[in-house]
Amino acid sequence: MTIGWHFDNTYSKLSNTFKENIKPTPVHDPELVILNEELASTLNLNFSKTDKKKLAEIFSGNSIPEETNTIAQAYAGHQFGHFTMLGDGRAVLLGEHLVNNENRFDIQFKGSGRTSFSRGGDGRAALGPMLREYIISEAIHSLNIPTTRSLAVVKTGEKVVRENLLQGAILTRVASSHVRVGTFQYIAATQNIENLNTLVDYTINRHYPEIKNSKSKALDFLNLVMEKQCQLVINWMRVGFIHGVMNTDNMAISGETIDYGPCAFMNNYDPKTVFSSIDKFGRYAFSNQPPITKWNLARFAECLIPLIDKNEDNAIKLATDLIDNFQNIYEDKWLNMIRDKLGLFGEDKNDKNLINELFDWMEKNKVDYTNTFCHLMNINSDEVYKNKDFINWKNKWKKRSKLNNPTKEKQIELMKKNNPVVIPRNHKVEEALDEADKGNLDKMNKLLNVLRYPYSNNGNLYEFQKLPPASEKNYKTFCGT
Ligand code: AMP
Ligand code: MG
Repeated sequence: MTIGWHFDNTYSKLSNTFKENIKPTPVHDPELVILNEELASTLNLNFSKTDKKKLAEIFSGNSIPEETNTIAQAYAGHQFGHFTMLGDGRAVLLGEHLVNNENRFDIQFKGSGRTSFSRGGDGRAALGPMLREYIISEAIHSLNIPTTRSLAVVKTGEKVVRENLLQGAILTRVASSHVRVGTFQYIAATQNIENLNTLVDYTINRHYPEIKNSKSKALDFLNLVMEKQCQLVINWMRVGFIHGVMNTDNMAISGETIDYGPCAFMNNYDPKTVFSSIDKFGRYAFSNQPPITKWNLARFAECLIPLIDKNEDNAIKLATDLIDNFQNIYEDKWLNMIRDKLGLFGEDKNDKNLINELFDWMEKNKVDYTNTFCHLMNINSDEVYKNKDFINWKNKWKKRSKLNNPTKEKQIELMKKNNPVVIPRNHKVEEALDEADKGNLDKMNKLLNVLRYPYSNNGNLYEFQKLPPASEKNYKTFCGT
């Protein structure tokens, strides 16, 4: 019985400007930590007849399947606003796996050794951050938010040097592609218009084939990417997700959430929430995510200018008008998204005020974002919801809920689709990672099982819904490089 790989590597056929041909650096003593069987089966892959030792060889890159053509991809990026040439410094693309001859997925190893893009880095990754990416990316997927996914994690049997000595690990990441805003910035920086056309055509073919023959291809492309990114950030705002490092190299053209470094979920509602230890000025704070999405899209637009119109002034005007509309599109979508969270049908001119009142109350009283919407679905009855101001607000909400006469069931149904009852709370993630680092995966598996059904209030979830301990107050995340 074969595993079922079906590689068809299109990116590796692009010219060497786009990539470096390179193999993963073999590791000393690989050991499988976790394999995502559910994801494997959706990829038509079958590992049931492969023993653990062989799996470790495969997912460490020590044993490379046939028909692969491994590469490191070139890209650039604005990191915290500063432009830098980057590239896969610790990742190798194994290849593109085709499912049913139709759906194409990048299979990438993260932590697989040095490449020509490594700069000063060791090309490696540590176990904690790779398992963290596994947990959060799978949680985001189950929340019905587009994302790269995690197929496996192996320990390398080697140590990586960070502030402490840590266990080395490799994550197998699955993505609909790894083409980023930064990929366009890299090619645009070389000022080679032929390559820029190649990249645009490649990406349109792969992600937006519907505009392949459009006369205004570059502008349509920008518009579609803007729509996708706008929808993505709306989803993050819906569940309280803070990406933490929205550099342009971490923005996928496919519209998937990518690169889980210092990301985390907000507890009490505070628009200024930042978890990343390196985000000193709150550039990527919760409420800054929409304007930063727009900023990144403007960097993407700059790359496309030469293809939008031969006349540069015209091109700039067209692109600027388009990007300037981001705010309006976002605000409309946001309002509708919150209406869904509140189970409100139709529109009322006072909706914005009603919503702002709730958000102000949550912020002022430091009330949990997720649990507040659970409370409105009759799931959480913390003391805080006995507050007089909140009860007043709730009465207004109840009155507004009657607009368009939805039944109570219909309202709850809408709310249940939009409000998670569990999110990966930071203290639960840390607890699971601590145990996993010692070789015990019980807590991690339990957490993963709960996070697979974030909209179902089944079983005893209290442990996963309760607020973080006071000791978490200054919780910080690290980039994990
Ligand atoms: P990230 O913060 O993961 O988005 O990475 C930003 C850039 O740094 C990318 O070009 C990575 O490939 C590179 N990088 C991150 N960690 C390492 C490492 N340990 N060794 C080499 N390159 C790295
Ligand atoms: Mg990155």
